[in-house]
Amino acid sequence: MNSEAKGYAMGFSESIWSDPVEYLRSVNPNDPVMFLSPAALQTQAQRFLDGFPGLVTYAVKSNPDEAVVDNLAAAGVSGFDVASPEEIAMIRRLVPDAALHYNNPVRAKHEIVFAVGRDVASYSVDSLSELDKLFALVPTHRENGERVEITARYKLPVAGAAYDFGAKFGATEELATEILTRVAAAGYTPSLTFHPGTQCVDPQAWDAYIRAAKRISDAAGVRIHRLNVGGGFPSHRVQAIVPSLDAIFHLIGRVTEEAFGEDAPALICEPGRALVADSMALATRIKGLRDDNHVFLNDGVYGAFSELPLMGAMDRITAWSPEGVQREGDTRRRTVFGPTCDSVDRLPGETPLPSDIEEGDYLLVQGMGAYSVATNTRFNGFGALAVHMVMDLSV
Ligand SMILES: *Cc1c(COP(=O)(O)O)cnc(C)c1O
Repeated sequence: MNSEAKGYAMGFSESIWSDPVEYLRSVNPNDPVMFLSPAALQTQAQRFLDGFPGLVTYAVKSNPDEAVVDNLAAAGVSGFDVASPEEIAMIRRLVPDAALHYNNPVRAKHEIVFAVGRDVASYSVDSLSELDKLFALVPTHRENGERVEITARYKLPVAGAAYDFGAKFGATEELATEILTRVAAAGYTPSLTFHPGTQCVDPQAWDAYIRAAKRISDAAGVRIHRLNVGGGFPSHRVQAIVPSLDAIFHLIGRVTEEAFGEDAPALICEPGRALVADSMALATRIKGLRDDNHVFLNDGVYGAFSELPLMGAMDRITAWSPEGVQREGDTRRRTVFGPTCDSVDRLPGETPLPSDIEEGDYLLVQGMGAYSVATNTRFNGFGALAVHMVMDLSV
Protein backbone atom coordinates (compact mmCIF):
# COMPACT_ATOMS: atom_id res chain seq x y z
CA MET A 1 0.00 0.00 0.00
CA ASN A 2 0.88 3.71 0.19
CA SER A 3 2.07 3.87 -3.39
CA GLU A 4 1.20 7.35 -4.62
CA ALA A 5 -0.98 7.54 -7.71
CA LYS A 6 0.26 10.17 -10.11
CA GLY A 7 -2.27 12.28 -11.97
CA TYR A 8 -5.17 11.30 -9.74
CA ALA A 9 -6.81 13.73 -7.38
CA MET A 10 -6.40 12.57 -3.77
CA GLY A 11 -7.13 14.01 -0.33
CA PHE A 12 -4.05 15.33 1.52
CA SER A 13 -3.48 12.38 3.82
CA GLU A 14 -5.11 9.70 1.71
CA SER A 15 -3.12 6.65 0.78
CA ILE A 16 -4.10 4.42 -2.09
CA TRP A 17 -4.45 0.65 -1.75
CA SER A 18 -3.79 -1.70 -4.61
CA ASP A 19 -7.26 -3.30 -4.49
CA PRO A 20 -10.21 -3.73 -2.08
CA VAL A 21 -9.14 -7.16 -0.82
CA GLU A 22 -5.74 -5.84 0.24
CA TYR A 23 -7.58 -3.33 2.43
CA LEU A 24 -10.10 -5.85 3.79
CA ARG A 25 -7.52 -8.41 4.89
CA SER A 26 -5.23 -5.72 6.37
CA VAL A 27 -7.88 -3.74 8.27
CA ASN A 28 -10.79 -6.19 8.78
CA PRO A 29 -13.27 -3.27 8.96
CA ASN A 30 -16.51 -3.77 10.88
CA ASP A 31 -18.33 -0.97 9.08
CA PRO A 32 -19.11 -0.90 5.35
CA VAL A 33 -16.44 0.53 3.07
CA MET A 34 -16.76 2.09 -0.36
CA PHE A 35 -13.69 1.79 -2.57
CA LEU A 36 -13.07 4.48 -5.19
CA SER A 37 -10.78 3.83 -8.14
CA PRO A 38 -9.70 7.22 -9.54
CA ALA A 39 -8.33 5.35 -12.56
CA ALA A 40 -11.67 3.68 -13.31
CA LEU A 41 -13.49 7.00 -12.85
CA GLN A 42 -11.16 8.92 -15.15
CA THR A 43 -11.32 6.17 -17.77
CA GLN A 44 -15.11 6.35 -17.79
CA ALA A 45 -15.02 10.16 -17.95
CA GLN A 46 -12.72 9.86 -20.95
CA ARG A 47 -15.18 7.49 -22.61
CA PHE A 48 -17.87 10.18 -22.37
CA LEU A 49 -15.52 13.03 -23.36
CA ASP A 50 -14.28 11.11 -26.42
CA GLY A 51 -17.57 9.53 -27.44
CA PHE A 52 -20.38 11.98 -26.72
CA PRO A 53 -20.88 14.43 -29.60
CA GLY A 54 -21.09 17.55 -27.40
CA LEU A 55 -20.44 18.95 -23.91
CA VAL A 56 -20.25 16.46 -21.03
CA THR A 57 -21.51 17.75 -17.67
CA TYR A 58 -21.76 15.75 -14.43
CA ALA A 59 -24.98 15.38 -12.40
CA VAL A 60 -23.54 16.01 -8.95
CA LYS A 61 -26.41 14.43 -7.03
CA SER A 62 -25.46 10.91 -8.14
CA ASN A 63 -22.25 11.05 -6.08
CA PRO A 64 -21.10 14.31 -4.47
CA ASP A 65 -17.96 12.81 -2.89
CA GLU A 66 -15.26 15.46 -3.26
CA ALA A 67 -12.70 12.98 -4.60
CA VAL A 68 -15.20 12.06 -7.33
CA VAL A 69 -15.66 15.70 -8.32
CA ASP A 70 -11.88 16.32 -8.21
CA ASN A 71 -11.12 13.33 -10.42
CA LEU A 72 -13.82 14.19 -12.95
CA ALA A 73 -12.42 17.72 -13.17
CA ALA A 74 -8.89 16.30 -13.55
CA ALA A 75 -10.15 14.13 -16.41
CA GLY A 76 -11.50 17.22 -18.20
CA VAL A 77 -15.16 17.46 -17.15
CA SER A 78 -15.81 21.22 -17.06
CA GLY A 79 -19.57 21.49 -16.58
CA PHE A 80 -21.77 20.38 -13.68
CA ASP A 81 -25.51 19.84 -13.30
CA VAL A 82 -26.38 21.17 -9.86
CA ALA A 83 -29.69 21.23 -8.01
CA SER A 84 -29.18 23.22 -4.79
CA PRO A 85 -27.15 26.07 -3.26
CA GLU A 86 -25.08 23.44 -1.42
CA GLU A 87 -24.06 21.75 -4.69
CA ILE A 88 -23.43 25.11 -6.36
CA ALA A 89 -21.14 26.21 -3.51
CA MET A 90 -19.25 22.91 -3.52
CA ILE A 91 -18.54 22.98 -7.26
CA ARG A 92 -17.52 26.67 -7.16
CA ARG A 93 -15.06 25.78 -4.37
CA LEU A 94 -13.61 22.62 -5.98
CA VAL A 95 -13.74 23.62 -9.67
CA PRO A 96 -13.83 27.45 -9.69
CA ASP A 97 -14.10 27.88 -13.47
CA ALA A 98 -16.77 25.23 -14.01
CA ALA A 99 -19.94 25.96 -15.99
CA LEU A 100 -22.87 25.54 -13.59
CA HIS A 101 -26.18 24.30 -14.98
CA TYR A 102 -28.89 24.70 -12.35
CA ASN A 103 -31.31 22.07 -13.61
CA ASN A 104 -33.78 21.72 -10.80
CA PRO A 105 -36.91 23.24 -12.38
CA VAL A 106 -38.47 24.49 -9.12
CA ARG A 107 -36.43 26.86 -6.95
CA ALA A 108 -37.16 29.11 -3.98
CA LYS A 109 -36.43 32.79 -4.63
CA HIS A 110 -33.51 32.77 -2.19
CA GLU A 111 -32.01 29.84 -4.11
CA ILE A 112 -32.22 31.78 -7.38
CA VAL A 113 -30.55 34.79 -5.75
CA PHE A 114 -27.77 32.50 -4.48
CA ALA A 115 -27.28 31.05 -7.98
CA VAL A 116 -27.05 34.49 -9.61
CA GLY A 117 -24.37 35.42 -7.08
CA ARG A 118 -22.34 32.34 -8.11
CA ASP A 119 -22.58 33.11 -11.84
CA VAL A 120 -24.74 30.14 -12.87
CA ALA A 121 -24.72 29.82 -16.68
CA SER A 122 -27.92 27.91 -17.36
CA TYR A 123 -31.29 27.28 -15.69
CA SER A 124 -33.96 24.71 -16.66
CA VAL A 125 -37.65 25.33 -16.09
CA ASP A 126 -40.90 23.45 -16.81
CA SER A 127 -43.63 25.93 -15.85
CA LEU A 128 -44.66 29.54 -16.44
CA SER A 129 -44.82 30.30 -12.70
CA GLU A 130 -41.16 29.30 -12.21
CA LEU A 131 -40.14 31.03 -15.45
CA ASP A 132 -41.57 34.30 -14.10
CA LYS A 133 -39.43 33.90 -10.96
CA LEU A 134 -36.32 33.53 -13.18
CA PHE A 135 -37.29 36.59 -15.26
CA ALA A 136 -37.70 38.65 -12.09
CA LEU A 137 -34.41 37.61 -10.45
CA VAL A 138 -31.88 36.54 -13.14
CA PRO A 139 -30.20 39.23 -15.29
CA THR A 140 -30.09 38.36 -19.01
CA HIS A 141 -26.29 38.58 -19.05
CA ARG A 142 -23.55 37.05 -16.90
CA GLU A 143 -20.52 38.81 -15.42
CA ASN A 144 -18.48 37.94 -18.55
CA GLY A 145 -21.09 39.44 -20.88
CA GLU A 146 -22.48 36.11 -22.12
CA ARG A 147 -26.21 35.62 -22.21
CA VAL A 148 -27.75 33.46 -19.51
CA GLU A 149 -29.33 30.32 -20.93
CA ILE A 150 -32.82 29.16 -19.95
CA THR A 151 -33.75 25.65 -21.07
CA ALA A 152 -37.35 24.48 -21.27
CA ARG A 153 -37.62 20.97 -19.87
CA TYR A 154 -40.18 18.83 -21.66
CA LYS A 155 -41.40 15.27 -21.29
CA LEU A 156 -42.84 12.54 -23.46
CA PRO A 157 -44.74 9.44 -22.45
CA VAL A 158 -41.76 7.15 -23.29
CA ALA A 159 -40.98 3.82 -21.69
CA GLY A 160 -37.52 2.31 -21.38
CA ALA A 161 -36.06 3.69 -18.18
CA ALA A 162 -35.93 2.12 -14.76
CA TYR A 163 -38.43 4.65 -13.57
CA ASP A 164 -40.34 7.54 -15.04
CA PHE A 165 -38.64 10.92 -14.61
CA GLY A 166 -41.58 12.60 -16.35
CA ALA A 167 -43.72 11.89 -13.29
CA LYS A 168 -42.20 14.87 -11.46
CA PHE A 169 -40.70 17.26 -14.01
CA GLY A 170 -41.24 18.20 -17.63
CA ALA A 171 -43.65 20.38 -19.59
CA THR A 172 -45.88 19.09 -22.37
CA GLU A 173 -44.74 19.98 -25.89
CA GLU A 174 -47.33 22.78 -25.99
CA LEU A 175 -46.16 24.31 -22.72
CA ALA A 176 -42.49 23.91 -23.69
CA THR A 177 -43.27 25.80 -26.90
CA GLU A 178 -44.77 28.65 -24.88
CA ILE A 179 -41.79 28.71 -22.49
CA LEU A 180 -39.28 28.73 -25.36
CA THR A 181 -41.08 31.63 -27.08
CA ARG A 182 -41.07 33.69 -23.88
CA VAL A 183 -37.40 32.91 -23.11
CA ALA A 184 -36.31 34.12 -26.56
CA ALA A 185 -38.49 37.24 -26.36
CA ALA A 186 -37.07 38.14 -22.95
CA GLY A 187 -33.49 38.13 -24.27
CA TYR A 188 -32.08 34.96 -22.72
CA THR A 189 -30.45 32.16 -24.73
CA PRO A 190 -33.26 29.69 -25.58
CA SER A 191 -32.52 25.96 -25.26
CA LEU A 192 -34.33 22.71 -24.57
CA THR A 193 -33.70 19.81 -22.22
CA PHE A 194 -35.17 16.46 -21.26
CA HIS A 195 -34.27 13.47 -19.06
CA PRO A 196 -35.28 10.06 -20.44
CA GLY A 197 -35.30 8.44 -16.97
CA THR A 198 -32.46 6.86 -15.06
CA GLN A 199 -30.77 3.59 -16.21
CA CYS A 200 -32.47 3.99 -19.60
CA VAL A 201 -31.59 0.89 -21.60
CA ASP A 202 -33.72 1.76 -24.64
CA PRO A 203 -31.85 4.15 -26.99
CA GLN A 204 -35.13 4.81 -28.82
CA ALA A 205 -36.11 7.07 -25.90
CA TRP A 206 -33.43 9.55 -27.02
CA ASP A 207 -34.60 9.25 -30.62
CA ALA A 208 -38.17 10.21 -29.72
CA TYR A 209 -37.08 13.08 -27.45
CA ILE A 210 -34.68 14.61 -29.97
CA ARG A 211 -37.35 14.61 -32.69
CA ALA A 212 -39.77 16.25 -30.23
CA ALA A 213 -37.18 19.02 -29.67
CA LYS A 214 -37.33 19.84 -33.37
CA ARG A 215 -41.15 20.00 -33.27
CA ILE A 216 -41.06 22.31 -30.23
CA SER A 217 -38.50 24.69 -31.72
CA ASP A 218 -40.43 24.80 -35.01
CA ALA A 219 -43.72 25.48 -33.23
CA ALA A 220 -42.09 28.29 -31.24
CA GLY A 221 -40.33 29.67 -34.30
CA VAL A 222 -37.16 29.76 -32.20
CA ARG A 223 -33.77 28.35 -33.18
CA ILE A 224 -32.59 26.54 -30.07
CA HIS A 225 -28.98 27.19 -29.10
CA ARG A 226 -28.40 23.89 -27.29
CA LEU A 227 -30.19 20.62 -26.64
CA ASN A 228 -29.41 18.92 -23.31
CA VAL A 229 -30.17 15.20 -23.71
CA GLY A 230 -30.11 14.55 -19.99
CA GLY A 231 -28.64 11.81 -17.92
CA GLY A 232 -30.17 8.35 -17.88
CA PHE A 233 -27.26 6.58 -19.58
CA PRO A 234 -27.23 3.01 -18.26
CA SER A 235 -24.54 1.43 -16.10
CA HIS A 236 -23.42 -2.18 -15.78
CA ARG A 237 -25.66 -3.46 -12.96
CA VAL A 238 -25.83 -7.20 -13.60
CA GLN A 239 -23.33 -9.69 -14.99
CA ALA A 240 -25.25 -10.60 -18.12
CA ILE A 241 -25.90 -7.09 -19.43
CA VAL A 242 -23.17 -4.64 -20.42
CA PRO A 243 -24.89 -1.59 -21.92
CA SER A 244 -23.30 0.03 -24.97
CA LEU A 245 -22.77 3.73 -24.39
CA ASP A 246 -21.18 4.14 -27.81
CA ALA A 247 -24.36 2.96 -29.52
CA ILE A 248 -26.36 5.58 -27.61
CA PHE A 249 -23.81 8.34 -28.35
CA HIS A 250 -23.90 7.44 -32.02
CA LEU A 251 -27.70 7.43 -32.13
CA ILE A 252 -27.90 10.83 -30.41
CA GLY A 253 -25.52 12.36 -32.98
CA ARG A 254 -27.23 10.76 -35.95
CA VAL A 255 -30.81 11.62 -34.94
CA THR A 256 -29.89 15.22 -34.08
CA GLU A 257 -28.42 15.62 -37.57
CA GLU A 258 -31.42 13.95 -39.21
CA ALA A 259 -33.96 16.04 -37.30
CA PHE A 260 -32.29 19.46 -37.43
CA GLY A 261 -30.04 19.30 -40.51
CA GLU A 262 -27.90 22.43 -40.91
CA ASP A 263 -29.54 24.11 -37.93
CA ALA A 264 -28.51 21.49 -35.39
CA PRO A 265 -28.14 22.79 -31.84
CA ALA A 266 -25.00 22.05 -29.82
CA LEU A 267 -25.51 18.99 -27.62
CA ILE A 268 -25.02 18.63 -23.87
CA CYS A 269 -25.37 15.53 -21.73
CA GLU A 270 -25.54 15.38 -17.93
CA PRO A 271 -24.87 11.79 -16.83
CA GLY A 272 -24.71 10.86 -13.19
CA ARG A 273 -25.04 7.10 -12.87
CA ALA A 274 -23.11 6.03 -15.98
CA LEU A 275 -20.12 8.21 -15.09
CA VAL A 276 -19.68 7.07 -11.51
CA ALA A 277 -21.32 3.68 -10.98
CA ASP A 278 -18.33 1.56 -12.01
CA SER A 279 -15.79 3.72 -10.17
CA MET A 280 -16.81 2.34 -6.77
CA ALA A 281 -17.25 -1.08 -5.18
CA LEU A 282 -18.87 -1.67 -1.79
CA ALA A 283 -17.53 -4.04 0.84
CA THR A 284 -20.16 -5.11 3.34
CA ARG A 285 -19.58 -7.64 6.14
CA ILE A 286 -21.75 -10.60 7.03
CA LYS A 287 -22.89 -10.06 10.65
CA GLY A 288 -24.80 -13.26 10.89
CA LEU A 289 -26.05 -16.26 8.94
CA ARG A 290 -29.29 -16.90 10.75
CA ASP A 291 -29.55 -20.68 11.11
CA ASP A 292 -27.39 -20.99 7.97
CA ASN A 293 -30.18 -19.45 5.94
CA HIS A 294 -30.81 -15.70 5.95
CA VAL A 295 -27.80 -13.44 5.43
CA PHE A 296 -27.60 -10.31 7.62
CA LEU A 297 -25.19 -7.62 6.37
CA ASN A 298 -23.81 -4.48 8.02
CA ASP A 299 -25.27 -2.43 5.14
CA GLY A 300 -28.75 -2.33 3.65
CA VAL A 301 -31.46 -0.27 2.01
CA TYR A 302 -31.05 2.60 4.49
CA GLY A 303 -27.36 2.61 3.56
CA ALA A 304 -25.49 2.18 0.30
CA PHE A 305 -28.17 -0.14 -1.10
CA SER A 306 -30.88 2.53 -0.86
CA GLU A 307 -31.98 2.40 -4.49
CA LEU A 308 -32.13 -1.39 -4.86
CA PRO A 309 -35.82 -1.69 -3.93
CA LEU A 310 -36.54 0.73 -6.79
CA MET A 311 -33.91 -0.41 -9.29
CA GLY A 312 -33.67 -4.16 -8.72
CA ALA A 313 -30.90 -6.37 -7.39
CA MET A 314 -27.25 -6.41 -8.44
CA ASP A 315 -25.29 -9.60 -8.96
CA ARG A 316 -21.65 -8.66 -9.57
CA ILE A 317 -20.73 -9.91 -6.11
CA THR A 318 -17.74 -11.84 -4.79
CA ALA A 319 -17.25 -13.16 -1.22
CA TRP A 320 -14.00 -13.06 0.79
CA SER A 321 -12.85 -14.48 4.09
CA PRO A 322 -11.32 -12.06 6.63
CA GLU A 323 -7.93 -13.42 5.51
CA GLY A 324 -8.68 -12.35 1.92
CA VAL A 325 -9.38 -15.80 0.46
CA GLN A 326 -12.16 -15.89 -2.11
CA ARG A 327 -15.15 -18.14 -1.42
CA GLU A 328 -15.58 -20.40 -4.42
CA GLY A 329 -18.54 -22.60 -3.47
CA ASP A 330 -21.44 -23.30 -5.82
CA THR A 331 -23.91 -20.47 -6.14
CA ARG A 332 -26.84 -20.52 -3.75
CA ARG A 333 -29.56 -17.88 -3.78
CA ARG A 334 -30.37 -16.41 -0.40
CA THR A 335 -32.52 -13.78 1.23
CA VAL A 336 -30.30 -10.89 2.34
CA PHE A 337 -31.23 -8.41 5.07
CA GLY A 338 -29.67 -5.11 6.11
CA PRO A 339 -28.69 -4.36 9.72
CA THR A 340 -31.64 -2.24 10.90
CA CYS A 341 -34.72 -3.53 12.69
CA ASP A 342 -37.02 -2.35 9.89
CA SER A 343 -38.56 -5.18 7.91
CA VAL A 344 -38.29 -3.32 4.57
CA ASP A 345 -34.51 -3.45 5.07
CA ARG A 346 -33.89 -6.39 2.74
CA LEU A 347 -32.43 -6.66 -0.76
CA PRO A 348 -34.97 -7.37 -3.51
CA GLY A 349 -35.47 -10.99 -4.55
CA GLU A 350 -32.79 -13.50 -3.66
CA THR A 351 -29.09 -12.80 -4.02
CA PRO A 352 -26.74 -15.36 -5.63
CA LEU A 353 -23.84 -16.01 -3.23
CA PRO A 354 -21.23 -18.76 -2.86
CA SER A 355 -22.62 -21.57 -0.69
CA ASP A 356 -19.54 -21.59 1.60
CA ILE A 357 -19.85 -18.01 2.96
CA GLU A 358 -19.36 -17.62 6.71
CA GLU A 359 -20.13 -15.04 9.35
CA GLY A 360 -17.41 -12.37 9.26
CA ASP A 361 -16.87 -12.67 5.51
CA TYR A 362 -16.99 -9.67 3.20
CA LEU A 363 -19.17 -9.29 0.14
CA LEU A 364 -17.64 -7.08 -2.53
CA VAL A 365 -20.30 -5.56 -4.77
CA GLN A 366 -19.19 -3.92 -8.04
CA GLY A 367 -20.91 -1.00 -9.74
CA MET A 368 -21.94 0.82 -6.54
CA GLY A 369 -20.79 4.40 -7.26
CA ALA A 370 -24.17 5.95 -8.07
CA TYR A 371 -26.90 6.90 -5.58
CA SER A 372 -25.15 5.12 -2.71
CA VAL A 373 -22.79 7.36 -0.71
CA ALA A 374 -25.16 10.24 -1.51
CA THR A 375 -28.27 8.64 -0.05
CA ASN A 376 -26.72 6.63 2.80
CA THR A 377 -28.46 7.35 6.15
CA ARG A 378 -27.58 6.80 9.83
CA PHE A 379 -30.94 5.13 10.55
CA ASN A 380 -30.88 2.90 13.65
CA GLY A 381 -27.25 3.89 14.30
CA PHE A 382 -25.82 2.17 11.22
CA GLY A 383 -24.41 3.77 8.06
CA ALA A 384 -20.83 4.60 9.10
CA LEU A 385 -19.67 4.36 5.51
CA ALA A 386 -16.00 5.17 4.81
CA VAL A 387 -14.50 5.81 1.36
CA HIS A 388 -11.00 4.54 0.54
CA MET A 389 -8.94 4.79 -2.64
CA VAL A 390 -7.72 1.81 -4.65
CA MET A 391 -5.65 1.49 -7.80
CA ASP A 392 -7.89 -1.23 -9.17
CA LEU A 393 -11.38 -2.43 -8.24
CA SER A 394 -11.06 -5.85 -9.84
CA VAL A 395 -9.68 -8.58 -7.62
C1 LIG B 1 -30.65 12.97 -11.68
C2 LIG B 1 -30.48 13.82 -12.87
C3 LIG B 1 -29.48 13.52 -13.81
C4 LIG B 1 -28.62 12.29 -13.72
O1 LIG B 1 -29.34 11.17 -14.04
P1 LIG B 1 -28.62 9.72 -14.19
O2 LIG B 1 -29.74 8.81 -14.46
O3 LIG B 1 -27.93 9.44 -12.91
O4 LIG B 1 -27.66 9.84 -15.32
C5 LIG B 1 -29.32 14.38 -14.88
N1 LIG B 1 -30.09 15.47 -15.02
C6 LIG B 1 -31.07 15.79 -14.15
C7 LIG B 1 -31.88 17.02 -14.37
C8 LIG B 1 -31.29 14.98 -13.05
O5 LIG B 1 -32.26 15.29 -12.17
